Amino acid sequence: ITGPDLQSLVSQIADEMRARPDRGRVADYIPELARVDPAYFGMAVALPDGTVAAAGDADTPFSIQSISKVFTLTLALGIAGDRLWKRVGREPSGSAFNSIVQLESEKGVPRNPFINAGAIAVTDVILSGHKPREALGEILRFMRFLSDDQGVAIDKAVAESEQRTGFRNMALANYMKSFGVIENPVDYTLGVYFHHCAIAMSCRQLALAGRFLAQSGRHPATGLSVIQAERARRINAIMLTCGHYDGSGEFAYRVGLPGKSGVGGGILAVVPGQASIAVWSPGLDAAGNSHLGRIALEAFAKRSGVSIFGA
Ligand code: GLU
Repeated sequence: ITGPDLQSLVSQIADEMRARPDRGRVADYIPELARVDPAYFGMAVALPDGTVAAAGDADTPFSIQSISKVFTLTLALGIAGDRLWKRVGREPSGSAFNSIVQLESEKGVPRNPFINAGAIAVTDVILSGHKPREALGEILRFMRFLSDDQGVAIDKAVAESEQRTGFRNMALANYMKSFGVIENPVDYTLGVYFHHCAIAMSCRQLALAGRFLAQSGRHPATGLSVIQAERARRINAIMLTCGHYDGSGEFAYRVGLPGKSGVGGGILAVVPGQASIAVWSPGLDAAGNSHLGRIALEAFAKRSGVSIFGA
């Protein structure tokens, strides 16, 4: 993928998406998300040198929701290393993102770090030895460092709404706690979880933040190693197999790239060795993934010829 062609491709896809009548349905489990205008569409592609091709509403912040789970997984692997895999598995779940049933047969160990139960267990690892405020500060500093942007912030209204209505997540956390999978007070762990889901970022910020996954774990702007190359590769593998809830197979089939979606309508996708891509369209499909976001990524992959499965 190269410079000027890349910008025209991204602009062309954004124009096509904005002209489509089909948009999916915005998440409505909290009013802050239900109010978001489904007409938004943004896309940004970040290259290793920091160049960004962006179009549409690529600079409008949105609720990243479950996309934050890629970054908390990265931090938790940095803290616990492979011991993390005692607390959370790495198999696709084949059930809804907030499912509780598998926890019973698997002794409270969630299937993977991207379903809610798994992400809550990962957050608990980051929290151990810290106060909730410190753990959250660490997550936020990490996002700001990765995106080279101190403006990344938490949407307080979204966080409070999540906390008020998050009964299912409370059930998941308490259930895991009963098996000893959660170490900290459940309220503390959930507080950090709800707040990192409520981080607001634009497509541009998110695409920049995802570059280390396309660059063997290196932060391109500083040359610092965010994570070992092997770990970056493995996070990409988990994004491919588990990144789209129960639509992960379909996403791999259609787009052919590791990706992680969130109910705010964002998707972060990685082209290993080449680029990090963020798209945002708030309307979701039946599996809870951005409807036009997926279609835009499919068009991008097809027209630019990128796929991890061959040309
Ligand atoms: N905060 C949301 C929840 O825990 C995240 C949902 C998502 O993006 O999957 O329900």
